[in-house]
Amino acid sequence: MDSLKSNVLAFDSSDLKELKQKLVDACHILDREGITDGYGHVSLRVPGTDAFLTIAGVSPGCATLERLVMLDLHGKFLGGQNAPPYEWPIHACILRARPDVMSVCHTHSKWSSLFSVLKGGLRPVHMYAKFLPANGPPIYPAAGLIGTVERGEALATALKDSAAVLMRAHGDAVVGASLEQAILPTVQLAFIGELAHMAVAHGEPLYMSEVEMATFSADQAFPARPWEYYLSRIRERRSS
Ligand SMILES: [Zn+2]
Repeated sequence: MDSLKSNVLAFDSSDLKELKQKLVDACHILDREGITDGYGHVSLRVPGTDAFLTIAGVSPGCATLERLVMLDLHGKFLGGQNAPPYEWPIHACILRARPDVMSVCHTHSKWSSLFSVLKGGLRPVHMYAKFLPANGPPIYPAAGLIGTVERGEALATALKDSAAVLMRAHGDAVVGASLEQAILPTVQLAFIGELAHMAVAHGEPLYMSEVEMATFSADQAFPARPWEYYLSRIRERRSS
């Protein structure tokens, strides 16, 4: 995975148009659901290559087809608007470390930020936490932005083989085998965080065990059903 594969499509290739639109939609979903603010970014590996698309230094809510950038897994500029997000190593390093991952979503979600500074972490209080380890997502402990490859690699190490990592006093990174499978768990992670926050206000929650989590069978309609729902909500926004 270390050398750039020769079959990387040109940024302006029509073959990338659908992926780019999906990436823009994903960014707007995060904004519509109140997960991102002026910051945060999503990446999508260009299938079969060592390249990825992400947004070019803008809020996810302001993403457009013209405000995307393509980089290789070492951060080399391959096309688009040449203003990669400062924290591009989050994406490059995780995509390099995890060949199973097609998409990485990084947000400054207030719910992830809250639980990233609590010693008990974020333990499962709902079936939506099925994608997380039973004792909650790992926490990347270092303060500061992920502006270097060294920090990106340390974050990838903290993530290990999990689907999400909380970043202390910062936010989260969620990964998936598709764009939908990174975005939807990001929304679910915020739901779980908010629910856990409310639960502790009422006393000691009865957290779910690994065995209990396993009793919830996988949703056969995932991710198509929730993706359709969240798309409908951004279309409402665009038409109003
Ligand atoms: Zn950040």
